[in-house]
Amino acid sequence: MKVAVVGAGAMGSLFGGLLAEQGHAVTLIDVNAAHLDAIRAQGLRLQTGSGDRYVTALGACRPPEAREPPDLLVVFTKTLHTAGALSGVAHLLGPGTQVLSLQNGLGNVEAIRQHVALDRILIGVTTWPADLAGPGHVRSHGQGIVRLMSADGQLRPKQAEAVRALQEAGLCCTADTAVWSAIWEKVAFNAALNGICAVSGCTVDQLGGVADGQALAFAVADEVMSVAHAQGIEANAEACKARIADAIAHHVGHKPSMLQDVLAGRKTEVEAIHGAVVAAAAVHGVPVPHTRTLLQLVRLVEARAGTAAA
Ligand code: NAD
Repeated sequence: MKVAVVGAGAMGSLFGGLLAEQGHAVTLIDVNAAHLDAIRAQGLRLQTGSGDRYVTALGACRPPEAREPPDLLVVFTKTLHTAGALSGVAHLLGPGTQVLSLQNGLGNVEAIRQHVALDRILIGVTTWPADLAGPGHVRSHGQGIVRLMSADGQLRPKQAEAVRALQEAGLCCTADTAVWSAIWEKVAFNAALNGICAVSGCTVDQLGGVADGQALAFAVADEVMSVAHAQGIEANAEACKARIADAIAHHVGHKPSMLQDVLAGRKTEVEAIHGAVVAAAAVHGVPVPHTRTLLQLVRLVEARAGTAAA
């Protein structure tokens, strides 16, 4: 399969590297010059449970330099860069190109739909963790899964091929008709933990320091689940809260990406997570006071960082 990954940071490089190791023709497309230079000079350093190695059989380039339309385009930018990234690779979207998003948050199908029809979009979630240890160097420790489905609910042969490729690359990938439940449960998990950690500065385990921490996380998750239910999505609030409690108990020292972004003075994915939930809640008349407050607070923190940088 010809695969292009646009947004080849931590997750995009992990997925692209694992697919390249299976013999697929992979091109990593990014705007981070230092990362691209390092990959071109020495290959992609992949540190996973399967070992520490360099993957050299892949391409790395900036968006205008990519030429061949792939069979599969994987979008792995942060959600706030999706629209810009897709415009940058619009010339690669051939008639047979399938587009996959496993990004966090809501609104990913809508963004991709500006460029390709619904029946060529694959949407899902992944629980694989990854971080960029330095230019050209990705680390991923632990286990994860991928659940995905065609955005119109009907998996076609070319899309089933993509599922098989991800599965064979060791990514534990399954096609799943309940993908929207998984997406909303992940949004609830992220809205709770990312949002609270971003505004409090707490690591995930520190939310267990006072009873209010977990109670607040549960309140946010319950609100998001109520919005999902109002949309007719059968998301499981209890399972989601169990995952939140487990994270608070075990993710010692973990700074969620939203906290990392705030600490680095970068814009966060708050609009695709809390912002999208608040907008959907308004449509259905569901009260989401905690989620709205977190949205407002993260926006304030982002604005302060913007002012400081200016
Ligand atoms: P990242 O910041 O490491 O990577 C994003 C990459 O996109 C960067 O390398 C950046 O240079 C690139 N980019 C930005 N604008 C671009 C453009 N216009 N064209 C091409 N490339 C562009 O982010 P990540 O941690 O890999 O996360 C990607 C997505 O996956 C997010 O939605 C995140 O929430 C989700 N996710 C992350 C993890 C994780 O453990 N890191 C796990 C599950 C889901």
